[in-house]
Amino acid sequence: MFTQKAQAFPNRRATDQHTLVEMQLAALAYQNLPAMLGVNIAATLGVAFLLYADGVSYLQVWLALVFVLSGLRLLCWFFFQRYCANESREQAKVGGWVLLYTLGLHSAALIWVAMVFITFQLATSEAKFTVIVIISALAGGATGITAPLKYAGRIYITILLLFTSVIIYWVASEHWVFSVLGLVFWVAMIISHRNNHYVLLKSLTLQMENKQLINNLQHLNAELELRVQQRTSALERIAHNDALTGLPNRLGLIDWMEKKLHADNPQEAAILFLDLDRFKQINDALGHEVGDQVLRMIAYRFNEVCPDDAILARWGGDEFLLVTAQADNTRERAETLARQLIDAAIAPLCIRDESLGVGLSVGMAYFPTDAINFQDIIHAADLTVAEVKRNGRGNSLIYNDIYAETQKRRFDLGRALSDAIKQNELTLAYQPIVNALTNEVETLEVLSRWHHPSLGVIDPCEFIYLAEETDRIIALGDWVLYQSCSKAREWRQQDSAIKLAINVSIKQLLAQNFSARVISILQETAFPPDALILEVTESLFGEAHLDTTLETVTQLRSFGVEVYIDDFGTGYSSLSRLHEFPVTGIKIDRSFTAQLDKQGLVIIESAMLIAQKMGLKVVVEGVESAAQFDKLLKLGIVSMQGYYLGRPSPVPAIRSSKQ
Ligand code: C2E
Ligand code: MG
Ligand code: MG
Repeated sequence: MFTQKAQAFPNRRATDQHTLVEMQLAALAYQNLPAMLGVNIAATLGVAFLLYADGVSYLQVWLALVFVLSGLRLLCWFFFQRYCANESREQAKVGGWVLLYTLGLHSAALIWVAMVFITFQLATSEAKFTVIVIISALAGGATGITAPLKYAGRIYITILLLFTSVIIYWVASEHWVFSVLGLVFWVAMIISHRNNHYVLLKSLTLQMENKQLINNLQHLNAELELRVQQRTSALERIAHNDALTGLPNRLGLIDWMEKKLHADNPQEAAILFLDLDRFKQINDALGHEVGDQVLRMIAYRFNEVCPDDAILARWGGDEFLLVTAQADNTRERAETLARQLIDAAIAPLCIRDESLGVGLSVGMAYFPTDAINFQDIIHAADLTVAEVKRNGRGNSLIYNDIYAETQKRRFDLGRALSDAIKQNELTLAYQPIVNALTNEVETLEVLSRWHHPSLGVIDPCEFIYLAEETDRIIALGDWVLYQSCSKAREWRQQDSAIKLAINVSIKQLLAQNFSARVISILQETAFPPDALILEVTESLFGEAHLDTTLETVTQLRSFGVEVYIDDFGTGYSSLSRLHEFPVTGIKIDRSFTAQLDKQGLVIIESAMLIAQKMGLKVVVEGVESAAQFDKLLKLGIVSMQGYYLGRPSPVPAIRSSKQ
């Protein structure tokens, strides 16, 4: 009976559940009011008709009262409906409305009691009987209709039945049976009203609780969904971005390319492979922390250059990729961009009060001309940048099919190199290092040579680099040491002071038991340790392996083997490191000799000064002319090496004569 048709106060936010239930009860009571008034007026008119026939006085007054009261109650109902529909109120206050409803209800009951009083004094039995029936019907109906209001409903029933019973007994005691019946009926109706009210209250409370529960669940669900969403996008961000620079990583880049380039209508694009120059030296010499900082700063600079419609990604290590997707002017634009990126990279970087310099090599490939799938086009740009590096770095090149062939050659050479070492395909050349004052050969630098049966003479830079990359350098190094020491024994019979200088790559130095192997080969070949010089580049001072290299160099020195820093001045060797390591000499790189009339002279002078202070020997490489020889001699350089003094040869001239 009381299941709600429409939710009253749909827009209210009740502060608590109790208030909300009260609001719903008031709404229910008012909802039944028009029907109640209708029944009341019909009953009033019916009784009025009978009493009119009996000629009862006060009839008009009674009727007027009923109509005025019903009108007022209807007005209340009307305003209550408007009050409920008003959405602007935060919370409904229903106490006043319940009071108005109760006043109307009780007034109606009192009017009926007054009517009983009049009827039982003046009217016929038929009218009396009718009034009793109506009063009973009204009280019966009230157990349901007024059930929303706990006290107002019960007082209404009490006025109707208890008051009526007393009045009947008072004014017409002969009808005491009606009074008794009224009392019994009153008790039954009160109990029924109580039960109805309880059921109604319970159902409303349950309804509220369910609603609350659903709200909570919905809230919880929404919160969970939000968290899952946030977590998913965070994971996606991590998976698609590089943690160090914040740039998209490989996954992020491929994702972008798939969206941009494989759209409905595939676009032309330029792929710029950016590889930093000299980054490895910085990383090795100054440590990974500085290396990371360099990468972050460079990434920032590249990003400034990167156009809005392009993507800049970190491919890995010191490699970045920039992809532009634009239908017009792709090539022109890519070349301009390459220039801008190189300029951005070479501007000095100031880290920990040190000014560092990196360079940039750029390899460019065009999509879809050079390759039609992403992996291939990136590979093409990668091959191109490798070519730039081989050609001297700091520049840009556009992809050419030849680069793929070069790559294939490197791959084939790498495989052939292992066999070459095993099958004694490699040979050795010896280049003199001469005392410029006495014109005597002090040392012979051992240089590897490879004449491949079908590919011809392979440049040492090419195969040594390959050997380092593939770790074949260990076997190659052992072979060089063994061969040259065996051979040099003969030459030492002619000149007992002659020494051997053997190039050693950092990979060899870091290999297990390097110093033990050197000593064992020296013993095997009966070559004196103090006649052996090992040349290592400045990569020796790399932070990452400082402990190992220092230990190995110290061990070698303890046996009497000398250690020189080769190509001095091209890497990053800090003076403190030079001081910490027990190295015996430096070989100043030939690039400075080639620039003797420019800043080369100053650099050689400074290097000499440092070496003197530290008690290190100095050799200058790349002496190609008499003029260079004289200039260096004037500077005080004694040990020199270069084509002017002797080219590398399988059979060296032990006594040097200037060419
Ligand atoms: P490096 O140790 O600096 O060797 C000197 C290089 O300079 C040699 O090149 C030599 O031929 C060249 N050279 C000597 N005098 C002159 C000159 O007056 N002018 C010019 N332009 N060049 C001159 P090469 O033989 O091509 O060797 C290149 C590099 O390969 C060497 O540089 C060395 O780092 C490496 N290398 C060669 N053989 C071996 C080896 O057996 N083991 C290792 N680990 N590295 C080696
Ligand atoms: Mg050398
Ligand atoms: Mg050198």
